[in-house]
Amino acid sequence: MSKPKLRYDTYYQYDELTKALQDLAAAYPELCQLGSIGQSWEGREVWYVTLTNQATGPHSEKPAIYIDGNTHAGEVTGSMTALYTIDYLLRNYGHDPEVTWLLDTRTFYVVPRVNPDGAELYLTTPYMLRSSVRPWPYDDVSDMPGLYPEDIDGDGYILQMRVRDDLKGEWKVSSRDPRIMVPRLMDDRSGPFYRLYTEGLIHDYEGEPFTVRPTPWGLDLNRNFPSQWHPKIRGGGDYPASEPEVKNVVDFILAHKNIGALEALHTSGGIFFRSPYTYPESQMDQEDLQLLRTIARRGTDFTGYPDVPSTGGTYAATIVDWAYENCGIPGFTPELWDMAGRAGVKVDWQNRRPRTPAEIEEREFKLLQWNDRELAGEGFFRWRKFQHPQLGEVEIGGWNPKFVRQNPPPKLLEQECYKMCRFLLKHAAALPQVAIEEARVEKQADGMYKISVLAANHGFLPTYLCNKGREIKAMREDRLILELPAEIKLVYGREATEIGWLQGFWNGQRAHGRPAQSAKRIDFMVQGPADSQIGVKLVSEKGGVASTTISLT
Ligand SMILES: [Zn+2]
Repeated sequence: MSKPKLRYDTYYQYDELTKALQDLAAAYPELCQLGSIGQSWEGREVWYVTLTNQATGPHSEKPAIYIDGNTHAGEVTGSMTALYTIDYLLRNYGHDPEVTWLLDTRTFYVVPRVNPDGAELYLTTPYMLRSSVRPWPYDDVSDMPGLYPEDIDGDGYILQMRVRDDLKGEWKVSSRDPRIMVPRLMDDRSGPFYRLYTEGLIHDYEGEPFTVRPTPWGLDLNRNFPSQWHPKIRGGGDYPASEPEVKNVVDFILAHKNIGALEALHTSGGIFFRSPYTYPESQMDQEDLQLLRTIARRGTDFTGYPDVPSTGGTYAATIVDWAYENCGIPGFTPELWDMAGRAGVKVDWQNRRPRTPAEIEEREFKLLQWNDRELAGEGFFRWRKFQHPQLGEVEIGGWNPKFVRQNPPPKLLEQECYKMCRFLLKHAAALPQVAIEEARVEKQADGMYKISVLAANHGFLPTYLCNKGREIKAMREDRLILELPAEIKLVYGREATEIGWLQGFWNGQRAHGRPAQSAKRIDFMVQGPADSQIGVKLVSEKGGVASTTISLT
């Protein structure tokens, strides 16, 4: 089977993505299996792949990272990055020691496109939408009067319209660059001034002032998770996990208890969103906060993107919030694609505030300079006159909203995929990993043996992942299980022993000179004939399964 050659200078539509995943699964059957986590609202299969070397153990017995993309319809960089990561792991297995180790010892569950309906609409029409295509909160809004977004000049995008209005106009043309629209100052009295609208058509227009209508697709799938959901959340849906795309993800994660890391790939901005989501950082478990920051900063090493808390009221009921608060899984929302950073514009994510008109102008100026330098000016559609059927002469122009603003221009996509993929591998490396370091047999008397097992965690994370995981008992305690043949009698100890949880080397970095409690010794006494074989298994929900066989000698 020849290895598929996938492209990362384009955004795959659903059929192309499906074929890419099928080809990868066919080309690497020992490492990659394709399945569906369920169907979308329109009935598309939502694909996922399971990546692990099956020769070193089943996927369910290894610590796992969950990665998804494209929950938001237009954030197609997420699905391409997820696909790239699958492809990267498969292509490099057996060549690259890091990748080989990761697939030998860990499992990757990857859902490249959580929301295939929304992504398809985004990729095949001029429309912009936040999430799925189920109309919400109303079944039908298109019969109301007002302006509806449409690509009226047929260039494939819904841009902006500027309409001259020297009396009421809120905007004016910058003197630095005629492409830039800047706010009219409170004391500006001589025009020309303009009003800015989304490109579109007005239903039932009678020359009167009109409202601008939202699209019918008002859902936000990353506000529909069953954590801190409430009916006032914008786009939150009818009830927690009311949307099939969200329920698919929730059910999948709950069914795969070995998941100990989560990455939900979004765009844009060039940041890592992390917990806490609904309360201030000061109220968060401080050790967990440091843990999240430590992982995210490894992400900064590879991407340059900073980590930011998501507190602010509008971010409840997200997947990362649910994963941490309800499942004890540390997770992140990387917001890929940092257009401003590319253009040399600084964004202070910690202290966001409205920009002044001068700042808006300066920012746009730098973005346009970058556009002219790196994109040969093609990222911005120059204002051009258009005869609007209702408004008369208008001008249409603005940034390419899809493949410059929301996602990288195709030629810059692969760089974005690569650097995030590199970090995703590091996050997977951080998972707990249990091992039986020693299983010693000491003959006490004829037919009587003492067995001493040293159970350990060699991973960065503890087997309880984080303090929240332990607090809410999100995972079972680690267990040591003896597999005794019929002729062996257990004199001391139990066949299954709950041993609590094992810390990871992260815990030993919290205080100098105080190493982590990452190993435990468990003793047994058995009675039986010499040379009998006993199986010893260390089972950790998040840290995998380790096993060995000992013989009584
Ligand atoms: Zn998003």
